[in-house]
Amino acid sequence: MSSTNYDVVKDLKFYRNIGIIAHVDAGKTTTTERILFFTGKKHKVGEVHEGQATMDFMEQERERGITIQSAATTCFWTLEGNTYRINIIDTPGHVDFTAEVERSLRVLDGAVVVFDGKMGVEPQSGKVFFQAEKYRVPRLCYINKLDNIGADFYKSYESILEHLSDKATPISIPIGIESEFKGIVDLVTMKGLVHMDDEGKVINEIEIPSELIEKAKKYRTILVEKLADYNDDIATKYLEGEEISVEELRSAIRDAVLNINLFPVMAGSSLRNKGVQAMLDNICRYLPSPFDKSFTINVESSETNSEEEKIFKGKVPGKSVKDEKEIITRDLTENEPFCGLVFKLSVDPHVGSLAFFRVYSGKLEAGSYVLNTSTGNKERVGRILLMHANHREEVKSVRAGDIAAIVGLKDTKTGQTICDPENPIVLENIEFPDPVVSFAIEPKTKSDQEKLGNALSKLVSEDPTFKAKTDAETGQVIISGMGELHLDVKIRILKDDYGIDVNVGKPQVAYRETITTTGEHRELLKKQTGGAGQYADIKFILRPLKRGEGYKFIDSIKGGVIPREYIPAIDKGIQESMVSGPLGGYPVVDVEVEIVDGSYHSVDSNTDTFRICAFYGFRNALKVCSPVLLEPIMKVSVNVPEEYVGAVTGYLSSKRGVIKNMIDRGKTKEIVAEAPLSELFGYVGDLRNITSGTAAPTMEPSHYEEVPRGLMEKILGINANSK
Ligand code: GDP
Repeated sequence: MSSTNYDVVKDLKFYRNIGIIAHVDAGKTTTTERILFFTGKKHKVGEVHEGQATMDFMEQERERGITIQSAATTCFWTLEGNTYRINIIDTPGHVDFTAEVERSLRVLDGAVVVFDGKMGVEPQSGKVFFQAEKYRVPRLCYINKLDNIGADFYKSYESILEHLSDKATPISIPIGIESEFKGIVDLVTMKGLVHMDDEGKVINEIEIPSELIEKAKKYRTILVEKLADYNDDIATKYLEGEEISVEELRSAIRDAVLNINLFPVMAGSSLRNKGVQAMLDNICRYLPSPFDKSFTINVESSETNSEEEKIFKGKVPGKSVKDEKEIITRDLTENEPFCGLVFKLSVDPHVGSLAFFRVYSGKLEAGSYVLNTSTGNKERVGRILLMHANHREEVKSVRAGDIAAIVGLKDTKTGQTICDPENPIVLENIEFPDPVVSFAIEPKTKSDQEKLGNALSKLVSEDPTFKAKTDAETGQVIISGMGELHLDVKIRILKDDYGIDVNVGKPQVAYRETITTTGEHRELLKKQTGGAGQYADIKFILRPLKRGEGYKFIDSIKGGVIPREYIPAIDKGIQESMVSGPLGGYPVVDVEVEIVDGSYHSVDSNTDTFRICAFYGFRNALKVCSPVLLEPIMKVSVNVPEEYVGAVTGYLSSKRGVIKNMIDRGKTKEIVAEAPLSELFGYVGDLRNITSGTAAPTMEPSHYEEVPRGLMEKILGINANSK
């Protein structure tokens, strides 16, 4: 274990916190591997298909070939005499792990989006591209696998233009294609870079091959024209036909990338070690340092009473602990008080629990104390580790811009802010979607029962979109998550990492309940049993809200007919009641409760009587407001060859699916549909069968909709019988 790496790069200007994002199989893992190889951290290239990729250190990830965990890895690259520290935050390519992508995007400054040179834009690369937009992440595009049969750089580029952004523009084009792919033409220097050996280490600079000169000129002109749209100097020189120097062009590209006006597109083949060094150069040249990144925060405007997004450049915004509406900022330097955001928890078998965090400002020393502004607790920072792909480096302190892991935090969760106790700040939290699917599980052997509880609580702490609970009525352990694959992965972790084999029940849909009509209700609690009695009386109006609006509580009590101090207890009683609705015991959502009248008794009333009264009152009121069942609707996207389109649309329609869009993807079509989750269990296997294994499907939760009435009775009947 080396302890000298940390100090290699001190100046924040030379930090690059980046993510590599892609559709499953586009080559993210291979690309990361090659970056680690060329930056010298790893000396033997591990092929993914041989199952030894360094970033994919979890056994089952290797098997599945998908990267599930968001690990952070540090490496170094020297360009033009300067050494850059590149922190790679690993992002998963599978949309079932949306939350993993979101939290990575939150802490990285720039990204490389990897595309498969044959497939072009695929559903997930598209989705992640737009997610990155939300966090204002500058991006480079990398068209990979150009050595593959059927690869087409230009077609893939066109698909980026068509589906993602017309701000995408090549800065390199391939020399040769498929088995003849040799290297790239750098459109900035207008030179060819040809790899001479299989490992790609020896690069010869050549003149542009004659057959590519016209093409290179054409794409360079497009690049200059796009830059001219945003850059007056370039525009003037271009219009006057003056030479634009390499330095001028690079500086204009950097400016445009940082302002999200340009997505440079690069050519390469990670597997064949071609184009990776150029990508590393471009990461250093064009992606932001922590200073260059813009941050957004949602601020509640007191004038409009609505949330609006504010953008900050070069400083990170947060909220005051005392007043949510007060925005505080910290410069991204060492000299400010410390603040950081925890974006990932994981349990390392050798070290214990690790909290990955990004330092935004100041310095954090091992052994010091931090304040968690979400819990209000102070915690001791045990050790601080810098993670490399295959080893850890213990460091004494970390500073603004760093991404590292703390060993020893006990009560800190993903998305929470840690900071200098004397200078509290709350950084924007990370939002995670609610789970939509559940399985009942039970250990195969009784002795694993206790182990299961411990293992699940670890898994829950690592993944904010994964939940586990014990059903109070049946005693069954229920795990919930974002999709079947998500839960499959957890079950595999239980087996592989914890040695717990479980029986798995049928998947259960996370239904919800709501109301469809407005109603008024009066609930009276009046008991006189010997000693002190119980009295509470509440009159309220219950109204349906729009989907996704959740719960609203309005206090319209006048003249103190219910004393102030009982109002929060009423709110609490209602929220306790919402946990289990009257139809099938599912959570109640999208309702507004307005308390309009009531009465109290000077001796027999207290917060408890009002809470209990509200609890039963709400339940009784729901029954008369035409309650309905809501079900999760998934957005399904299936990429298939033309000849299977009919079969797939037919299949989806038979699953109560509605086809929303049909996108041309060259030889394949992408069918985008919405369908209820309850109909989609096993859909991956079904689609494989009806398309001879050619369908590439993905799904993710979209929204909730009312269950058709006939079906509602069936669902409630079945669930009632199974209880
Ligand atoms: P990920 O799912 O995005 O992490 O993709 P992987 O890196 O695991 O790659 C998926 C598959 O594509 C593996 O079998 C790789 O060997 C292969 N692959 C990755 N890059 C290239 C490339 O440049 N050329 C070719 N021909 N195959 C590649």
